[in-house]
Amino acid sequence: ANHSDMLEQTEKSSTELSQVLASVKVAKEFRLAIANDQLLLEYQPLVSLDNRKILGIEALMRWQHPVHGRMAPDSFIPMAEDTGLIVDATWWVFEHALAALRRIQDQTGNREIFVSVNVSAQDFNDPAMLDRLLLILEKHELEARHLHLEITERLLLRQSDQVRGLLNRCRQSGMSIAIDDFGTGYSALSYLHTYPVSTLKIDKSFVGQMLDDKQALGLVRSILSLGDNMSLNVFAEGVETEEQAKTLQSLDCKIAQGFYFARPMPENQLLTTIMEQH
Ligand code: C2E
Ligand code: CA
Ligand code: CA
Ligand code: CA
Repeated sequence: ANHSDMLEQTEKSSTELSQVLASVKVAKEFRLAIANDQLLLEYQPLVSLDNRKILGIEALMRWQHPVHGRMAPDSFIPMAEDTGLIVDATWWVFEHALAALRRIQDQTGNREIFVSVNVSAQDFNDPAMLDRLLLILEKHELEARHLHLEITERLLLRQSDQVRGLLNRCRQSGMSIAIDDFGTGYSALSYLHTYPVSTLKIDKSFVGQMLDDKQALGLVRSILSLGDNMSLNVFAEGVETEEQAKTLQSLDCKIAQGFYFARPMPENQLLTTIMEQH
């Protein structure tokens, strides 16, 4: 190799090293963030398409970083999953989201409202996960049906007995299991009858394109009829316009989520929003 190649090589590895160091630093900071309550949750309503009433909420994590400010989950969840720190973060979410749901149910008098929590593959490595979850529900006098777990197709494709067993027990205890971002990436639909799935969440990319793109509309329609044929609920996410809401409703979709109805918001704002609709 000539001199400039070698120089490039050295520069490249020093960038890689600094990237590794930076990610070690971020991981360390994230560990502290969980312990020091620098995480926070916003809640986005899931509404009935028939009457636009709020039926449930999805808990979405944010990181209030002391230097970088409010960080979106896409910027740190992959790191949290790679480092295994996601497990502690998910427990933090369960604790806070279920405590918040208790307050929301009390203050609005609506005992039916549910909360959806996003879970990652590593969260299922702990055989005691369900028992611990049931204890949190009990502490807040909530029923298991008030909790929806949102998982991804990627998790199901692992075909792990451990995951299958745990999901079965979660479902049997009354929780709902939703497949998030449904339709993206994978097509091994056989998992739909080997796993205890209750809900498909149509990915927002299809909803966003369905009015301009016949194929996207075809996909949305197919997911809804798949749900119908398999007795699964189908929720649509990423609804940004009335026209999209109307189209989904005409396709017999019952529940949707999106900026058109409400953005993710802090608990106090959510309370006001729910109170205003009664
Ligand atoms: P997701 O689970 O698919 O959540 C929906 C994302 O779409 C949220 O982004 C939400 O703000 C956004 N969204 C909702 N309605 C609309 C809309 O009408 N248009 C558009 N363009 N976007 C909409 P957010 O909060 O940035 O979260 C991004 C992702 O980060 C989530 O995608 C989820 O995969 C992950 N995430 C968030 N919180 C958690 C968590 O507590 N645990 C885990 N494991 N992952 C989380
Ligand atoms: Ca989700
Ligand atoms: Ca999603
Ligand atoms: Ca997503």
